[in-house]
Amino acid sequence: MQGYAEVLRLGMEQSEEQRQKYANRTHTKVRFIASLVDDLFELTKLESTELSYERKIGDLAELCRTAAADLYDSFERKGITLDIRIPESPVMLSYHEGLMHRALSNLLTNALKYNKEGAHVWLELVACDEDIVVTVGDDGPGISEPVRETVFEPFVRGDQARRSDGGSGLGLAIARSSVERHAGQIWLDPEAEGTVVHIRLTKT
Ligand code: ATP
Ligand code: MG
Repeated sequence: MQGYAEVLRLGMEQSEEQRQKYANRTHTKVRFIASLVDDLFELTKLESTELSYERKIGDLAELCRTAAADLYDSFERKGITLDIRIPESPVMLSYHEGLMHRALSNLLTNALKYNKEGAHVWLELVACDEDIVVTVGDDGPGISEPVRETVFEPFVRGDQARRSDGGSGLGLAIARSSVERHAGQIWLDPEAEGTVVHIRLTKT
């Protein structure tokens, strides 16, 4: 990126086409670094015992609907079906809206990123007496066996993901820390074909 920026700064580009190419690459890299810094900052805050996140009573069903609605167009554009199975009645719970939204968005963004046209993704919310389970699932390629073990650790990425750019391997680590801030659990469904992630939160 420094190289591209330097060429542009010194006016060394050889054509308008090359200028455009270098400007685009610089832009892509800057966006990547900005999002990496944001994610690292978020994870550091989440892992710091000194910071507390205030929770408020709210409707988790509504939050799920919002997280899905935010990405609905992107799923549609990629030709992936997003199936939303959320109760119509409110599911009241004490949670931190920003953290839970972030956790769900990270899971949905993965389902969008790692699946191809024609795939099927679902977001499900099941409320029982004592706890609530939110699931984001897909019928895509799944996560390979050695990666599954550590996928919630920071910077862990699958081989295919590593080949394409635009990710740092912090998404699931942030989702896990966000859920753990609610004394909840997050895990990969071991039986599932594709990738199915469950989040359990207790009501009390
Ligand atoms: P970031 O979220 O920071 O942009 P990332 O998506 O690579 O980067 P994670 O969200 O933590 O990081 O995911 C870790 C790895 O798990 C991914 O690189 C990918 O290999 C695999 N993975 C996650 N979700 C899925 C999914 N739905 N289908 C297939 N592979 C997945
Ligand atoms: Mg991700």
